[in-house]
Amino acid sequence: MNPPVHPAGFSSFSRRTFFRFAAGASALASLPILTEAHLAQAQRPRFADPNKGIHIDANENPLGPCDAARQAIADIIPRGGRYLFNLQDALTESFATIEGLDPQSVLPFAGSSEPLHFTVLAFTDAHKPLVIADPGYEAPVWAAQASGAPVIKVPLANPKGAATHDIKTMIAASNNPGVIYICNPNNPTGTVTSRTDIEYAVANAPKGSILLIDEAYIHLSDAPSSLDFVKEGKDVIVLRTFSKLYGMAGIRMGFAIARPDLIKKFQTFGMNPLPITAMAAAQASLLEKDLVPTRKKVIGDVRVEALEWLTAQGYACTPSVSNCFMLDVRRPGKEVWAALAAREIYIGRIWPSWPTQVRITVGTREEMLAFRKAFIEVMAGSTAEFGPPPSLSNRDERPFPYLS
Ligand code: PLP
Repeated sequence: MNPPVHPAGFSSFSRRTFFRFAAGASALASLPILTEAHLAQAQRPRFADPNKGIHIDANENPLGPCDAARQAIADIIPRGGRYLFNLQDALTESFATIEGLDPQSVLPFAGSSEPLHFTVLAFTDAHKPLVIADPGYEAPVWAAQASGAPVIKVPLANPKGAATHDIKTMIAASNNPGVIYICNPNNPTGTVTSRTDIEYAVANAPKGSILLIDEAYIHLSDAPSSLDFVKEGKDVIVLRTFSKLYGMAGIRMGFAIARPDLIKKFQTFGMNPLPITAMAAAQASLLEKDLVPTRKKVIGDVRVEALEWLTAQGYACTPSVSNCFMLDVRRPGKEVWAALAAREIYIGRIWPSWPTQVRITVGTREEMLAFRKAFIEVMAGSTAEFGPPPSLSNRDERPFPYLS
């Protein structure tokens, strides 16, 4: 996979350095391990001000942390000169109690990227491949390049319909996989893998492999969690993050949940004390009982409106239950991306296997209305070359915008 090429200069030294190494590296071990944040940042070449334009490109949560989390951060700042190790234990205990887990199975991190990378680094190598769905979240692939592991990409089943992980093919893809990665709901499609399929994966994954079940977006959906497989002592590592529903991507907190002997392997990679602001915010967020259902509804309502509107305009989208979805623009996605970016509407990236689709993150209602307006203009401008979208009998003829 080649890193993105940037027409204009980068705004930060770290980004430039990052991708120069990615492009020039010959030794596998010197390749950087990229995350959603790096990949989204790499797409923002034209301007330096992160507050300019509409960003529906990085699966962030525009709502930010809840009020209780903001207050907890403010309250703990004066104690910032201390490590406050007890906060980590308290947070681990809280999460374990809420989820009915043994605290020994819960390891907090500054976000879920680190344990995701650590899992791939610890359990894959040149003889133990990574198996991943395509399109899927790329971070494990970059980590596999660092560990020297082959990567087996399995296309999503029924791409024009449910677009779910093809679990049977993934499980059969290798006799000796190191890690089988299931993102549930999936990034970028927002689609869910059924409980039956995950049960099949747990029961049939080759011995010695790890099922890495990434639940970054689980709170946004009705999908059942896979934490019970950890309770049953299976070879399963579940990841959770506060970056999505909890709106703490910039504050950084997440968990790896697995049998203690599995997460112990992460110690090889070193463990940092965690920022006390992030631990305090996460603790406060967990104690907010209505937060998950309230935000799930707010984000879900805007998602449904966006999907309904796009469908009414004649465009197919993946049936997302999360905060992102893939939109088929039926022409090279990068052209639509560039035309929207010229209007300061920044949408998500394009996966090479689905070149006519772009990922859209669900923003605020106002952001999605701005996206619609720009999208109509862009698609009208490109119909001369690509022809109009097919007319649908249920096409909505009401004038734009009709929400609000
Ligand atoms: N897993 C998935 C599927 C993601 O999409 C992301 C970020 O977008 C992450 C993990 C990592 O998130 P973070 O490190 O912010 O917790």
